[in-house]
Amino acid sequence: MSATMKDRRSARASHLCRCGLAFAALLVASMPAAAQPMDANAVMAAIDQKTAAYRDVATKIWSLAEVGYQETQSSALLQEQLRSAGFTVNAGVAGIPTAFTATWGSGKPVIGIIGEFDALPGLSQAAQPDRKPLVADGPGHGCGHHLFGTAATASAIAVKAWLSANKRSGTLRFYGTPAEEGGAGKVYMLRAGLFDDIDAVVTMHPGDRNASSASSTLANITGKFRFRGLSAHASTAPDRGRSALDGVEAMNAMVNLMREHVPSDARIHYVITNGGRAPNVVPDFAEAYYYARHNDMRVLEGIWERITNAARGAALGTGTTMELEVTGAVWNVLPNSYLVSLMQDNLRKVGGYEYTPAERAFAEGIRKTLDGELPPIDSANAVFAPEAGIGSASTDLGDVSWRVPTVQLSAATWVPGTPAHSWQAVAAGGMSIGVKGMIVAAKSMSLMAMDLFSDPAHLVKARAEFDKRRGPDFKYATRLADRKPPLDYRK
Ligand SMILES: [Zn+2]
Ligand SMILES: [Zn+2]
Repeated sequence: MSATMKDRRSARASHLCRCGLAFAALLVASMPAAAQPMDANAVMAAIDQKTAAYRDVATKIWSLAEVGYQETQSSALLQEQLRSAGFTVNAGVAGIPTAFTATWGSGKPVIGIIGEFDALPGLSQAAQPDRKPLVADGPGHGCGHHLFGTAATASAIAVKAWLSANKRSGTLRFYGTPAEEGGAGKVYMLRAGLFDDIDAVVTMHPGDRNASSASSTLANITGKFRFRGLSAHASTAPDRGRSALDGVEAMNAMVNLMREHVPSDARIHYVITNGGRAPNVVPDFAEAYYYARHNDMRVLEGIWERITNAARGAALGTGTTMELEVTGAVWNVLPNSYLVSLMQDNLRKVGGYEYTPAERAFAEGIRKTLDGELPPIDSANAVFAPEAGIGSASTDLGDVSWRVPTVQLSAATWVPGTPAHSWQAVAAGGMSIGVKGMIVAAKSMSLMAMDLFSDPAHLVKARAEFDKRRGPDFKYATRLADRKPPLDYRK
């Protein structure tokens, strides 16, 4: 419990001691006031009032730093917040122990709020402006997903209070989505049908600035190409052997030639994860691990098919066999400019925040460790214009965005200039700068969801743009169709 919460509770207890029943009666008498209709200001004030409690939740998840599909305690902590706020929690969905939904209300529209909570390996870091791991080589929240999950939870609870106080109909569903960092948790949750009845999704991502997100990402397919040959003495009986490493090398050679004949904005990268053990033994097993990316999954599908053909051809030519395990596939994010501008309006209503002198000193310390041109140090107090374009990252939110109109904002939870997946992001995420950015996100997401519940025209316009961008014959599919969630991928 935080000092502030403790102070507040003991202050209340001492009031009860002094005033006894009279004060208790006053409390009861004042309760119906909470059910008065709430406007946007009341919703934002309600979030402000719970800042200390949400800071504690986020800090706990930050300290736990649980990696993909192992976020047992982080997931439980968020579930607990939602359950005690009146949501019906459905835990362990889609065959994933740490995935959950939390639903409140009934009928249309159905609005989703997504929260992530997985950490990254190797990024353990104290909340201080110089490199100091808390646990040597331990995990850390380098993508700020502790703030992501908590902001989304805070927002869901605030919107539920608003729906309830204003006696509005509609369904609000929180999605606790694990293993964003390479585990594609959302893809399995989509496959389980959990997004089938949703009209729109609202979400956020930690960042170094406040802005509604207008940009896309790269679709990404990953897989392991396993070649099997025949071992033999490499000098006395090479004719008796068939080299699995030859298969890998022939495949890589063909893919490298292919680079000239794919769209120039495609990215293909590989490592050889197994190339045999000793030069005097013809390797009977070799493996290449590939990633391919492009900003349109439909183009990437074709590129991936050609990479797979290169592997098949390599096996044929080297007298080996090849099997492919597709380990991951996420779509590029499909932005929705109508929702982007609505989110931007709401973010502007919320506005940024100022640094205290201590936060400024912290930010100055962090910025001494960052390279390149940095945005102004006080830019957390501003709201930036949404930037359209294509980022070079990939995320499983992409799949959601092709299934249902989706909007995301970036909030300044990191010192301006901080890249994601850095120790500097972990550091700021563990102190008050992270919390302030989280509150900006929680409020903006709340106002956004309230708009979607209030005016059906927003959903109609968002859907029209969504349908147009997807095209008339579009049907969402994933290469992970038959794959079980890789629950042990971080073990
Ligand atoms: Zn990340
Ligand atoms: Zn992230």
